[in-house]
Amino acid sequence: MTDERGITDAQRGLSDMSPSEFRAAAHRVADLVADYLEGIESRAVFPSVRPGEVRSALPQEPPREPEPLDAILSDYARLIEPNLTHWQHPGFMAYFASVASGPGILGEWIAASLNSNVMFWRVAPASTELEQTVVGWLRQMLGLPEGFDGMFMDTASMSTLTAVLAARHVLPGLDARDEGLAGRPGIGRLRLYCSTETHSSIEKAAIAAGVGRAGVRKIPVDADYRMRPELLEAAIAEDRAAGFWPFCAVATLGTTSSTSVDPVGAIASICEREGIWLHVDAAYGGSAALVPEMRPDFSGWERADSIVVNPHKWMFTPFDASLLLFRRPEAFREAFRIVPEYLRTPEGEVARNFNEYGIQLGRRFRALKMWIHIRWFGADGMARRIREHCRQARELASWIDAEEDWERLAPVPFSTVCFRHRPASLRGAEGDPNLEKRLESHNEAILEAVNRTGRIFLSHTKLAGRYTLRVALGNPRAREEHVRLCWDLLREAARVVTV
Ligand code: PLP
Repeated sequence: MTDERGITDAQRGLSDMSPSEFRAAAHRVADLVADYLEGIESRAVFPSVRPGEVRSALPQEPPREPEPLDAILSDYARLIEPNLTHWQHPGFMAYFASVASGPGILGEWIAASLNSNVMFWRVAPASTELEQTVVGWLRQMLGLPEGFDGMFMDTASMSTLTAVLAARHVLPGLDARDEGLAGRPGIGRLRLYCSTETHSSIEKAAIAAGVGRAGVRKIPVDADYRMRPELLEAAIAEDRAAGFWPFCAVATLGTTSSTSVDPVGAIASICEREGIWLHVDAAYGGSAALVPEMRPDFSGWERADSIVVNPHKWMFTPFDASLLLFRRPEAFREAFRIVPEYLRTPEGEVARNFNEYGIQLGRRFRALKMWIHIRWFGADGMARRIREHCRQARELASWIDAEEDWERLAPVPFSTVCFRHRPASLRGAEGDPNLEKRLESHNEAILEAVNRTGRIFLSHTKLAGRYTLRVALGNPRAREEHVRLCWDLLREAARVVTV
C-alpha cells in the first residue's frame, strides 16, 4: 500500500523494499537504462554544466523521512543523467574508452543483488571458483601460458601497487612486510624502473610502497616513445654501484599518451639477468592480445612476473574490472597473508582465499559480469571488435597523413591516434621559441571547439613537449561514421579557430 505521497508500507516499517515492490521498480529501472542506452546519441557527450552547479541543485541535508521512488527517479533524470560526461556515447574518444556492454551491465545487476563478498572461499564458494575460472579463460584468450594465475582488482593502479608490493617482498634481505622500512639501518634505497612515458600509477605505487618518487628511475625512450633497454641496463649497473637496491622494472604495452609498446622481450632478458621483478602494464594495450595477429607486439610479456590488463578499458566490460596476472602466486600470498582467528576457516589450505593475495579483505564479485560478457560476445567476437577499432584508427591516421596541414605525432600500434594541426602559418618558423606555444594554443582551441559541439569528446597530451590531440577508439557501439564525424569536426574547427 502506498499513501497519498507515494510512500509504501515497507518504507514506513522496519524492513527493506518488498519483493513485489522491488520487481515493479526493477522493471522501471530496466526501461530507464534501456532508454538511456537507446537515446544516448541525442545527448551531448560533454555536458554544458559548470563546477558547483549540480551540487547547488541538490539538497544539502539528507531527507529525514522516506521519499517516494517516483521523486527519486525523477530527480535522477533531471539532475544526474543530463549532467554527466557520457562514457557510453559513441562520440567519447577521449582518454581511453571505458564502455559497459549490455551483457556486462546485466552481470553487474545480478552481482549487486547477490552482494557476494569474495573475501574467501567459505563466504563465496561459487564466486571464488568462477573468478578462478574466468581468470583462466582470460589468460588463454590473451595467449598467455598456463603458469599464470591471477585475480580481479578494481583498477590498474591497485593491480600495479599490489604487484610492486609483491616485488618488494621477494627482494632478499628486506622483509618490509614484517620489519617496515622507516628508521632501519643497513638497508639500501630501493629502485624501481620505468620509462619516461609510464602512467602516473607507477609513481603512486612507489609512494605507497615506501620507495618514494625519488626511488623511481625513469628510463629515456626512443623516437617512438619506447623504453630504451640498453639505458635500462646501464641505469641498473650505475645504481648497483651507487648502493641502490634495484627490485622492479615496469614495461608498458600501450603507454597512456601515445600507446607505444616497450620492447618487453629485451626488458625481460635484463630483468632475468639482474634478478629484478618484471611488471607489465598492459592496462589499455593488453586487450589487443585477444587478436591473434597482434600478439607479436606482446612477445616476451609471457616472461613477466606480473601483468595488468584492464577489461574495463578496451574489453568493454563495465567499470570496474582490472585483471592482475602473476606467475608466482606464493609471492603475493606471502606478502599479504594475515589470518586472524575470526577469519580462519577449515578450507584454509585447500581452497582459494583471495583476500590473502592482496590488501583488500572484502572484494566485489567481478567475475560474474566478466563470465556473462565473455559468453555473450565469445572470445572471437571480442577480438573482432578490437580488430575493427584498430582498423578504424589506421583509417583515421591515413586521413591525417594525407593532409598537409595535419601532422601525426606517433605510430598507431592499437586504436589511438596522436596528431596536431599545423597550418602553413605555423610551419616554417622552426627554431622560433614561440612556435610551440602558438601551436599549443591553436590546437587547444581546436580541441575546445570540437568538445563544445557535444558530438565528439577528445582529450590531449604532450609528446616530446608538443601539444598533441588524441583520438582513442574502443566503443563497440561506435561505427566508422563516428570516426568520420570526428575528423570532419576537427577540420571544421581548424578552419574556424583563429591562428
Ligand atoms: N596504466 C595505463 C597504461 C593507463 O593508461 C592507465 C589509465 O589510463 C592506468 C594504468 C590506470 O588505470 P586505472 O584507472 O584502472 O587505475
